[in-house]
Amino acid sequence: MKSDDPLAREINALLDDGAHQGHPLHAALAELYTRYLDQSRQIDRISHIADRYQNAERERGQGYAVNYQRKLRQLEKIVRISDQYQHMLRDVNDRLQWLSSRDELTGLPNRRFMLGLLGDHLRKLAKGGEPVCVAMADIDHFKSINDNYGHDAGDKVLAALGELFRNNLRADDVCGRWGGEEFLIILPGADLESSTITLARLRARVSALPGPDDGDAFRLSLSIGLVRGDDPDEAPDHLLKRVDEALYAAKRQGRDRTVIA
Ligand code: GH3
Ligand code: MG
Ligand code: MG
Repeated sequence: MKSDDPLAREINALLDDGAHQGHPLHAALAELYTRYLDQSRQIDRISHIADRYQNAERERGQGYAVNYQRKLRQLEKIVRISDQYQHMLRDVNDRLQWLSSRDELTGLPNRRFMLGLLGDHLRKLAKGGEPVCVAMADIDHFKSINDNYGHDAGDKVLAALGELFRNNLRADDVCGRWGGEEFLIILPGADLESSTITLARLRARVSALPGPDDGDAFRLSLSIGLVRGDDPDEAPDHLLKRVDEALYAAKRQGRDRTVIA
């Protein structure tokens, strides 16, 4: 009860009034009023302490919230950076994988890739997939190009041949550099007859390639061995041995031809 409260004013007036001194209720009212004032002060103190405690708790809570938000932002940043790294790693990995499957000079798939591809086709064949024709092409007398025009000129011929193979095969057919001046061609789903036609067209285009020196009489030719993989039990090594034998038969028979085995 505040001192400007009308009841407080009235009680104070009653207690101060001499006319009531000695009245039995005067002492009781004085005592009651004193206790009331004490308890009021205690309540004020307790609510003051409770208010301060509540404020401190609120500030601490806000501090936690700010801290939490900051940590959350840091965490989001770390997740973003980690995502970027993962993308970068995946790109680098894809690029490395692509590079490790290519032949640098000709831009064609390399031997490793072709072996994998052949294995894939033969596995599919074993599971009831379509047969595949496989050809091995070897440049005739390539050593003489190196000998007559130099190794760099030989490299240019190999690169030109790579481009020719890339641009003159069906989308499903794949030609890779097997090594040196040998190329492996995989023709999925093709039969020997249509493959022979495809290879004759390639040989005609190869023979029309310009030579390393302008004006020189130059004619590049290929010897090719061709086989068809239609036995589901045949291993890749066995098929490659057959195609190699066909190639050497083409060499023996005078080069510049395709021999089927
Ligand atoms: P054949 O008709 O019997 O196939 O005769 P060839 O001369 O083509 O075969 P040979 O195996 O005697 O020679 C192949 C040559 O290919 C020898 C090698 O120096 C050359 N060669 C292999 N790889 C490369 C290459 O990357 N660049 C160049 N310029 N030459 C290469
Ligand atoms: Mg060779
Ligand atoms: Mg050769």
